[in-house]
Amino acid sequence: MSKYLFPIYKQVNIEFKKGKGSKLYDKYKNEYIDFTSGIGVNSLGHGNKSLIKAINKQANKLIHISNIYPVEAQKKCAKKLVQLSTYKNMNCFFCNSGAEANEAAIKFVRKYAYLKKIKNHKIITINNSFHGRTLTTLKATAQEDKQKGFGPFTDEFIYAKDIEDIKNKIDKSTVAVMLELIQGEGGINAFDKKKIQILAKELKKKKILLVIDEVQSGVYRTGKFLASNYYEIKPDVITLAKGLAGGLPIGVMMSDVKDIFILGNHGTTFGGNPLCTSVALEVLNILQEQEKSKKLENRILYFQKNLDKCLKENKEFFVSKVGIGLMLGLKLKNEEDLGILIEKCLDEKLLVLRSGKDIVRFLPSLNISKKEIKEGFSKLQKAINKIKG
Ligand SMILES: *Cc1c(COP(=O)(O)O)cnc(C)c1O
Repeated sequence: MSKYLFPIYKQVNIEFKKGKGSKLYDKYKNEYIDFTSGIGVNSLGHGNKSLIKAINKQANKLIHISNIYPVEAQKKCAKKLVQLSTYKNMNCFFCNSGAEANEAAIKFVRKYAYLKKIKNHKIITINNSFHGRTLTTLKATAQEDKQKGFGPFTDEFIYAKDIEDIKNKIDKSTVAVMLELIQGEGGINAFDKKKIQILAKELKKKKILLVIDEVQSGVYRTGKFLASNYYEIKPDVITLAKGLAGGLPIGVMMSDVKDIFILGNHGTTFGGNPLCTSVALEVLNILQEQEKSKKLENRILYFQKNLDKCLKENKEFFVSKVGIGLMLGLKLKNEEDLGILIEKCLDEKLLVLRSGKDIVRFLPSLNISKKEIKEGFSKLQKAINKIKG
C-alpha cells in the first residue's frame, strides 16, 4: 500500500502486469485464472483485440468534446441500448459509473414525485442491497454498517426486509421501489421471478416507479441483455455500468417516463464521451453476436456444469449454488471458511470474489474459454482439498 493513497481498500499484494483472455500475469510471470473480470467489468476479458482496436480507432479521431456539442457515438450507443433492451421509447443519460447512474435515477424519481405532487416522497430499497458509495446511493444501500460515520444523509429511503416486505412499506408517500434483481454484493441473491413479476404488476397499478439497478446484472451477465429481460418485467428506470464498455468507465440511466428530465436538469462533463460510448457500442455488438450464435449460452452451461460438479463433490463444504448466467456463487457451510478459501484459491493462482458473508462469487468474463473454465475449477478443487487437509 502506498503512503500516498488513502488506505480504503483491502488489497491482495499481487502486482498484475498483463492480461490475455481470462488469464492474468504478475510481475514474476505467474499465470492466474481470472474468475472476477474486475468485478464484472472486463466483459470481453483482458487484451481483447477488437476492444483495443475500437479504443485506438476512436482515440485517433476524438476522445472528448463536451456535451455542449452532439456526440455521434453517444447517439448510436443509446439507440443500440434501447434496441437491445426490447423496451420502446427509452431515453438514455450517460455518466461514468454505477453510483452516478443510480444518482441520476434517484434525481429522476424525485423530479417525478415533484411533478406528481407526491408529498414527503419516499423510495423503498431492500436489505443487503448495494447501490454505490456517494452519500445518496450509500443511503439507498440498505447496509447500515457501510453508512456508519458518514451522516447526515440524503433522506427519504425506507428499507424493506425482502420482496414480500415491500408491500408493508408502501404508503401514499411511496414514489419508487429501487432494487437489484440479483443482489451482487449482498450474497448473489437472485429474487424469485414470480414474486418480482407480481411486485412489478402491483407497482404499475399503484403508479409507483420500479427502478432496477442492473449495474452488475446488466449487459448479458445473465445470458440475456438485461436481468429484467430474464425476469420478463419492464422497469420504469434501469441503470447499467460495470460491463458496458469492457473496462472503460461508463454508466447509463434509461427510462421511458417522459417530460421529467428537461433542459438543464442534469449533466456531466465526462459522461458519454466519444471514446467510452464508441467502445461501449463495440462491446454491445460483440456480445449481441455471442448471444445470437449461442456461444454465450454454451459458456454459461459449461461454467454451471462445472459449478454443479464442484458442489456435488464438496457437499461437506458448500450448501448450494446461487445466481444466474455468469453471475454465480457457492454458499459455504461455515462462513469462517470464506476468507481461507479465497486465500487458498490465490495460492493456486485463481482469482475469485466474496459476496455477503458466506458466498464465494464468480463473475468471469463473458467470453471465457472452456479451457480457462476447466483450469479454474481444477484450481478451485485443489484449494478446497488444501482446506479439507
Ligand atoms: C458496483 C455496483 C454499483 C456501484 O458502481 P460504481 O461504478 O462502483 O459506482 C451500484 N450498484 C450495483 C448493483 C453494483 O454492483
